[in-house]
Formats: sequence, structure tokens, C-alpha cells
Amino acid sequence: MSTTQEIKLCLLGDTCVGKTSVVQRFVLDSFKPGTETTIGASFMSKTLLVDGKSYRFQIWDTAGQEKYRSLAPMYYRGASAAIIMYDITKEETFKSLKSWIKELKERGPKNIVIAIAGNKNDLEDEREVTTSEAAEYCSQLGAIFTETSALTAIGVNELFTNISQQLPGQR
Ligand code: GDP
Ligand code: MG
Repeated sequence: MSTTQEIKLCLLGDTCVGKTSVVQRFVLDSFKPGTETTIGASFMSKTLLVDGKSYRFQIWDTAGQEKYRSLAPMYYRGASAAIIMYDITKEETFKSLKSWIKELKERGPKNIVIAIAGNKNDLEDEREVTTSEAAEYCSQLGAIFTETSALTAIGVNELFTNISQQLPGQR
């Protein structure tokens, strides 16, 4: 049997974009509507099998500190991947990506794998950010891009699978 690779992953992005909900969908495969500021733990973990390899994600979620646009250094320490999330129905959360990327580059570990997730893609009628403009922006940054929905589960496993495949030593 092969070993499990441990991955510390941290979540960034404006408040209410759905960070906690996407983690709950990934880890527990459930969706609880309504605002839940915290899931009661600083991190949750889940093991994912990708191409016959096992990855144990230790996911660090915020408990609302993202409102201050800055997170504690321990939040980033030892992280090998980060998800920066925006809400496809709120353009200002897409505009905020720039400052989250800056924060991560200044305070996060070097060579951290960055994935950008456009969440709430079930709300097509309220969309303010097109898939193509977001994909273009991410490719210029060299970041992974996935649209997700914590409600329908679309894109959630793909997001974590894509991250696994970009980790050092995978290709
Ligand atoms: P966080 O502050 O980034 O952790 O965001 P939350 O996970 O607390 O979600 C904020 C609000 O958006 C809650 O009311 C969620 O139920 C809702 N929400 C989160 N993800 C989705 C989604 O994919 N689709 C829809 N329709 N609502 C979502
Ligand atoms: Mg949250």
C-alpha cells in the first residue's frame, strides 16, 4: 500500500462567498442553508484518492477573521495549498481576489499551490462574473480555476482533485 500525502490547505476570500459551505460539502457531503460563521473547529480533514494515490487534506477554515482582510501567520504556516474563493453573483468578491493573492504572496509559504474557486454557480440568474473572464484571469496568474456550488456539489471534488494533481512531485 502506498502512503498518504498530508496536505495543509487554507481558505481565503471575502466573507459569505461560501468557504465554510464548500468545505462542508467536501468533507461531510452536506449543505446547510443559512449563515453559519463557524463549523466549530479550526480545521476539518478528508482523504481523497486521486490516480491511485491517497491525499489527506487538512483544511483550515476561518471563523470570520477574513472580514479584517488579514489572517494569523499560523493560518498559513506549513500550508501547501490555498483556495481563494469568490462568489460568481458578487463582482466585488471577484475584485477582492487581487488583495487576497497579495496577502498570500506576502505572508504565505513560497510555492504554495493556488486554486481560485468561483462559488454559487447554481445561481446562474444572478451571475455577475462570467466563466471566461475568471478563467482568463486565473490562467494569467498560473492558478487553478474551478467553478463550484456547495448547494449542488458541482465542481467541489474536481477542485480538490485539481489541487492534488498540481502538488509538487505529482508530475
Ligand atoms: P463563508 O463566510 O465564506 O464561510 O460563507 P458561508 O459558507 O457561511 O456561506 C454564506 C452563505 O451563502 C450561506 O447562507 C450559505 O448557505 C450560502 N451559500 C454557500 N455556498 C452556496 C452555494 O454554492 N450556492 C448557494 N445558492 N448558496 C450558497
Ligand atoms: Mg465561514
